[in-house]
Amino acid sequence: METDDSGNEEDCPIVMIPYGKQLIEDDDIDAVTEVLRSDWLTTGPKVAEFEEAFARQVGAKYAVAVSSGTAALHAAMFSARISLDDEVIVSSMTFAASANCVVFQGGKPIFADITPDTLLIDPKDVEKKMTGKTKAIIAVDYAGHPCDYDALKEIANRNNLLLVADACHSLGASYKGLPVGSLADLNVFSFHPVKHITTGEGGMITTNNEEYANRMRIFRNHGINMNDQRQRIAQGSWLYEMVELGYNYRITDFQCALGINQLRKLPRWLERRRKIAGQYDLAFSGIKAIGPLSVKPDIEHAYHLYVVKIIKNDRGMDRGTFFKELRSRNIGVNVHYIPVHLHPFYRERFGTVTGLCPVAENAYEQILSLPMYPAMSDEDINVVIDTVRSITLL
Ligand SMILES: *Cc1c(COP(=O)(O)O)cnc(C)c1O
Repeated sequence: METDDSGNEEDCPIVMIPYGKQLIEDDDIDAVTEVLRSDWLTTGPKVAEFEEAFARQVGAKYAVAVSSGTAALHAAMFSARISLDDEVIVSSMTFAASANCVVFQGGKPIFADITPDTLLIDPKDVEKKMTGKTKAIIAVDYAGHPCDYDALKEIANRNNLLLVADACHSLGASYKGLPVGSLADLNVFSFHPVKHITTGEGGMITTNNEEYANRMRIFRNHGINMNDQRQRIAQGSWLYEMVELGYNYRITDFQCALGINQLRKLPRWLERRRKIAGQYDLAFSGIKAIGPLSVKPDIEHAYHLYVVKIIKNDRGMDRGTFFKELRSRNIGVNVHYIPVHLHPFYRERFGTVTGLCPVAENAYEQILSLPMYPAMSDEDINVVIDTVRSITLL
């Protein structure tokens, strides 16, 4: 389809271009069906193979695969021994699961504000929100931009806090030359279909700490200390002991086969995401209504999301109208995120109020996520750019 600059109705894609989407190719399907024909459906050789490949990819000693990013966050909190009334400082600009994991363990999430240019957790506000009960910090690499890890590590070390990276957006990103996944004490990833690679549902935690890794392996398997059935069979033993209260957070072998295959494509897909971001940057650079987020010079961005701020104009065009106009033209924009402390659950359970994180609350009024995924065609990109341009002229 040829597109022009007029943004008229004929340019609208017939099906919605989503904000994010998986890419499953024939070799992915082959990898999965091979496992489906084998003896191990769950916790077989593919789990360990995926963990090893993933650990290598992100430069960590250990990787533990689980059934979702949310399970990974929960396992991280468990291994860090977060428990009743412990406080954990969490970025307010994130998906609710980043904070929910603290509540799962009986702890209290304390919401930190963000810096207005990157929407990443503000180390200064982290320091302000610390109390004697603070045990950990959960930093979120929002949109795929790594947080200010030097500042966060310094705060964590000085105050004997654990640093957890919610890296669900930033697989493949790096900070001062170091890959995300090797930066914090515990680093959490998700393999939901909109993320960089998918296993349908799935998650991973990376760490250099053997004790944490072992605790998470027990946690994902009901708290049972004998890790999997293969080990039991190999040892000719029926004995197992439940030593902790765990969950069934196991991931299946066929999901891991998919993960292994997808991981091989990560470099190519990152390149594509960065290329799309470059085209958007260029196309919107002269448009007053569209404010980009900052990208720091010492990082490599993974662009899970491409987020812009819509600057309200004097004709009343704001983010809300922008969202509606784009959706009506089949551009599947979205808003990431409603600041977590504003959700009714947190207001009611923890008494969080509007005004707690003013920078996040203001940013929330302006942000919009544009389509960003490796399977986007050049034509899709042009349609998004032309449609966004045409709306700025309304
Ligand atoms: C996707 C995501 C999660 C949750 O991952 P699931 O695999 O969907 O459970 C947690 N935190 C952030 C920042 C995410 O984007």
